[in-house]
Amino acid sequence: MKVLLASPRGFCAGVNMAVESLDQALAVYGPPLYVFHEIVHNRPVVQAFRAKGAIFVETIDEVPPGANLMYSAHGVSPAIRRKSEAAGIKTIDATCPLVTKVHLEAIQFAKEGYQIVLVGHAGHDEVVGTMGEVEGSIRLVETVEDVAALDYPAGTRLAFLTQTTLSVDEARAIILALKNRFPHIVGPRKDDICYATQNRQEAVRLLSQEADMVLVLGSSNSSNSQRLAELARESGRAAHLIDGPQDIQFEWFKGHETVLITAGASAPEHLVQGCVSLLEEKFGADVESRSVREENVRFGLPRELRQALTSFPAVPASYVGSPEKSSPAAN
Ligand code: SF4
Repeated sequence: MKVLLASPRGFCAGVNMAVESLDQALAVYGPPLYVFHEIVHNRPVVQAFRAKGAIFVETIDEVPPGANLMYSAHGVSPAIRRKSEAAGIKTIDATCPLVTKVHLEAIQFAKEGYQIVLVGHAGHDEVVGTMGEVEGSIRLVETVEDVAALDYPAGTRLAFLTQTTLSVDEARAIILALKNRFPHIVGPRKDDICYATQNRQEAVRLLSQEADMVLVLGSSNSSNSQRLAELARESGRAAHLIDGPQDIQFEWFKGHETVLITAGASAPEHLVQGCVSLLEEKFGADVESRSVREENVRFGLPRELRQALTSFPAVPASYVGSPEKSSPAAN
């Protein structure tokens, strides 16, 4: 068996920042530390933090007054911020700056009198947060068919935005449908699908051509991980989305000589390495790293945390490790 290890893969700059923020916040404030929604959409990461004293909540009512609450990488709506403030909760905002950028674009378009069409997945934390910024001025479309059903009166000023973790190809088709239906629609200078989503999809698109099957490390609720598995299947390859080596079933590999391994933006590198070790052990796999692009993006810790860290020394990050360790360029 040959294993192709795709790069870029795994933690993006936003996830690195969010995970390191939670690590540092637990060290500075101590448990319990509340987190609004999963810090990132990855079960093993969430479980590891739960064991260290993080409490993940779905509503602000679950957080006691005076407690510390972190907002996850996917961002929150202004209504949640207001509710936290009214409840006397101390907040740390670990929203990815690339998600914040979409919020700001939505606010700006709404201020300029546009109705906004957001291309995204209903119920995703990021979509809920973005739509909450401009309630009443924004509608969601998930498919090309949804575009056909839009019923804006003639002359409505329209703008579109996208979720950061969409399939590049699907988003392109929906944006094209929007432009065909509403020739005057405007959008951001560059679409909002983030660099990490685009790079991981590019790697799967190119490298799956050399593989018989694809393993994607990532949780089933991770949008960008799901898109990687879908992309591999669209290329005609068998693909499995797994949380870690424990999910591997050896019969999957019958008749498959070359396996591409990649990881969604919220999947930790140690689980990738666990899968590689298992395939080396079981099938004597030869491992080859294949990089299609370098990544050097890095985001700083949230302001509230930086301030707190001036009084407390930073602790060595126990979960995230150095970005270089999980960086594709290092493989
Ligand atoms: Fe930010 Fe993109 Fe990572 Fe989401 S996937 S946290 S938008 S860098």
